[in-house]
Parts: sequence; C-alpha cells; structure tokens
Amino acid sequence: MISLNSIAPSSSAEEHSRLPLQDGSRIGVIGGGPAGSFFSYFCLAMAKRTGLEVAIDMYEPRDFSRPAPHGCNMCGGIVSESLVQTLAAEGIEIPPTVVQRGIDSYVLHMDVGTVRIDTPLQEKRIAAIHRGLGPRSLTEAKWGSFDGFLQDLAIERGVNVIHERVTEVEWNDDRPLITTKEGSSASYDLLVFAMGVNTATLKFSDRLGLNYTLPRTVKTAIFEYYLGEDTIEKIIGSSMHVFLLNLPRLEFAAIIPKGDYVTVCMMGDDIDKELVELFLNSPEVTACLPPELIADKSSCRCSPRMNIESTCRPFADRILFIGDCGVTRLYKDGIGAAYRTGKTAATAAVFQGVSAESFERHFWPVCKSIRADNSYGKIAFFFTRAVQGLRFARRTLLKMIVREQRNGKNGQDLSRAMWDIFTGSAPYKEVFLRSLHPAAVGRICINLAGSLFPFRHHKGGS
Ligand SMILES: Cc1cc2nc3c(=O)[nH]c(=O)nc-3n(C[C@H](O)[C@H](O)[C@H](O)COP(=O)(O)OP(=O)(O)OC[C@H]3O[C@@H](n4cnc5c(N)ncnc54)[C@H](O)[C@@H]3O)c2cc1C
Repeated sequence: MISLNSIAPSSSAEEHSRLPLQDGSRIGVIGGGPAGSFFSYFCLAMAKRTGLEVAIDMYEPRDFSRPAPHGCNMCGGIVSESLVQTLAAEGIEIPPTVVQRGIDSYVLHMDVGTVRIDTPLQEKRIAAIHRGLGPRSLTEAKWGSFDGFLQDLAIERGVNVIHERVTEVEWNDDRPLITTKEGSSASYDLLVFAMGVNTATLKFSDRLGLNYTLPRTVKTAIFEYYLGEDTIEKIIGSSMHVFLLNLPRLEFAAIIPKGDYVTVCMMGDDIDKELVELFLNSPEVTACLPPELIADKSSCRCSPRMNIESTCRPFADRILFIGDCGVTRLYKDGIGAAYRTGKTAATAAVFQGVSAESFERHFWPVCKSIRADNSYGKIAFFFTRAVQGLRFARRTLLKMIVREQRNGKNGQDLSRAMWDIFTGSAPYKEVFLRSLHPAAVGRICINLAGSLFPFRHHKGGS
C-alpha cells in the first residue's frame, strides 16, 4: 500500500504556486481502465476524508458489460499476487464472480523439457480474470468484467462516467479543455490522461504544448480459445503455461486458463502473423492445446500495443499521465502499475495541489522508481533471451528447476526468480539482487559447467 505519511499538506506560503484543489474543483479523467478507475476511486475517497468537495467526470467509450471488442481492454488477465494482496489491504476484494481461476503454479515449456513450478507460498493468490465480459464468441456470461468491477467501485464513490470518446484537448485560458466525438466539451481544474497506449488520442496531447513524449510500444498478440471448464481442468489445470522457445523476436509467451476459455499471449519485438504461426504450431504448444483448436481462425484475437519504454515527465500544471500512457512496469503487472501511479497521483492532487511542481515532488518519484526497476527487468529479460538462444543453458535451467522442485521448499532460488519474473509478483530489482547471492551464482556456474556434457533428463520431466 502507498503511505500517506510523507505527503502532509505544505505551508500556506506555497499555497498559490501549488494550485490546490478547492471545493467545487472539477477533474476530467480520459479513460476508464484500471488507471482511470483507481485514480478516481482514491481521489474521491481522500477528498471526502479531508472534507473537500470535488467532482470527477470519467470519459470511457467502452461498455464493460458487453463481450469483446466493445468491452475489452486487451490483456493476459493476470492480477499479480502482490496486487491481489495490496487491494485486499485497501479493503478491495476482487469478487469470485470476477476471478475465473486462482493460479497455483506455472509450467515452464522449453524444447529440452517441461517442468512444473508451484507457487512459493502454495496458495492460489494470482487471479485470472477477463478485462471485459469475455471473448467475442461468449454465449453465456458466467463471470463479470474486471474493469467493470473497478469502474463500479469508482462509481460508488461518486464518479460521473460519460460514455464518450475524447477527440480533442486544448487550453482554454489556463484550464485544459476537452471535446468528445459526440460533441460535448468541458474544461477542468485537472485533466488526467489514463487512456493507455492503444488509442490515437494520445497524439492530441501535442496540442497542449507539453514536454511529453509518447511511450515506446511494441505489437503483441492475444487469442482466446473456448475449451469449456472441464476440459481446461483436465488438460491445463490451474497452471499458467509459460514458453521459453528459441523463436526469433519472441520474448516469451503464455497460456492462461480462465473459466471456459484459455488466453494465449505472445510478447516480443512486434509479433507478426509468421511468428504467431511458428509459435502456435510448435510441438510445445500443440502438446498443450488440441490442434483443431489452434487451427480455428474464428477465435477472438487482437494485437494490442504494449508500453516498453515509459515516458519522461508525465505531468505539467493541471495535467497528469497515469497507467500505460505514463509510466508502467516492463512486460508484467501493468494493472499493478496502474494502481500505483493512479493512487499516487490522487494523493498528490488532493493533498499537494495540481501544479507541475507538486507532481514533480509527490508523483514523479514513484514513476521514477518504476522506471528504475524496469532497468533491472531489462537485465532479467536479457538473461532469459540468452537462455532461449543457448541449448545448453536451457538444459541447465531445466535441470536446476527440476532438482529444486524435487527438493521441496529449501534453496529454490531459480524457481522463485522465474516465478517472480513470469508473474510480475516482485520488483525486478529484488529478483536481480536475490539471484546475485553468491550461493545462487555458484550453483548456476557449477550446473552450467555440468551441462556442457549430455543431459539425461527425460522430456516431460518433473
Ligand atoms: C498482450 C498483453 C498482455 C498483458 N497482460 C497483462 C497481465 O496479465 N497482467 C497485467 O497486470 N497487465 C497486463 N498487461 C498490461 C495491462 O493491460 C496494462 O498495463 C493496463 O491495462 C493499463 O491500464 P490503463 O488504465 O493505463 O490503460 P488501459 O487498460 O488501456 O485503459 C485505457 C482506457 O482508456 C479508454 N480510452 C482510450 N482512448 C480514449 C479516449 N479518446 N476517450 C476516452 N477513453 C479512452 C479505453 O477505452 C480504455 O478503457 C498486458 C498488456 C498486453 C498488451
């Protein structure tokens, strides 16, 4: 949870320059995904606590009570362990009507074999959800939308959701003014951009003359396959299946079991049709999913973009960029980053004002810490890429994890590191420093040396 202790109100001499929110102040939020909903929820909760009356309009064209694409914010749908726990501590329990499955393990697939890794705490704390109501082919809605659940929390706090798409932003004197496709317009004391990276509207922010650069993004791929609850239980279980294959441009891929569907996610350097075919038809994938399912081209699929290089200085006087369109975590736990940046932004706005200076002091440090952690993430993914490319390294990794899993809880350095990297459950820096422990480094070196000789473990291993 984010502490409020360091953000006590400042002295009255600074009052004017920090542009404080006042009774009657109006806030506009563009985007009602996780970042927009978290910001609105916390902002209204904190304002109420301090006796401040502010109004929030949240613009969101999607209807999360409809199946994709009208109600979906394209994503793998994993809510990390750390976020599930943090939200519970905030009093936000993700209801069982939204959590389609608790993930208790992952199965790592490589060409040299397969190994199952149990959650370090032996608990099902990772939640598998659909962001919208479900895929295009959905006939019966058994579970609710995760984004709809978050939006309802914000609505309960009093946010006014406007189902319109913002198409223009400009200054009206010293206030940001927005116009929607439907023709409405309004100006605000604070305008929060929370529209992710899969939108053309980000470019309109240029018209505000800000020092804001668009985040660097790559194209990913997502497929939703219907298997039915019983078949999923039989062939996939409650494990996330992760693939470290030696395919060019593929960083990693995963099969995530939900209720009646499995979600297949591919991330890397601009995933195209050719790479999709190579991956889906690889022996490792066809061993998990029936070939006729993979051949079904009518399944719900999309190619969302993903932020891989966060923007610098995502704020100005009366302007904030949160979630994916500002700063987020590399490859993992984007919803967790939306929570952190959304809540920090709300805290800064309510307690410290909406000037660039206030955001620099009270919002930017959290963004900077996420950016710094991503540098460790880049190193972690550099190593997984190296392992992907070297057969003897893949054999070593498999051998070590198989042994760790057999030996039980003690000395599970590598299993734990892989778990945290693939699930996004711990900061990359923590994983990196743990992996640098001399005992862990020693074990890896000894095993690498050993693997230069033939390895006799059978495929299908642990
Ligand atoms: C392939 C893939 C898999 C992923 N898997 C995971 C995962 O398993 N777990 C995880 O934590 N993260 C995952 N992420 C990242 C996660 O999806 C994002 O980090 C998260 O959605 C960011 O939330 P957000 O609110 O910033 O943006 P978004 O979720 O993109 O929401 C933005 C909202 O703004 C709205 N909007 C856009 N333009 C306008 C406009 N002009 N006017 C009004 N509204 C507008 C959109 O309709 C949308 O609802 C994944 C991402 C990708 C690409």
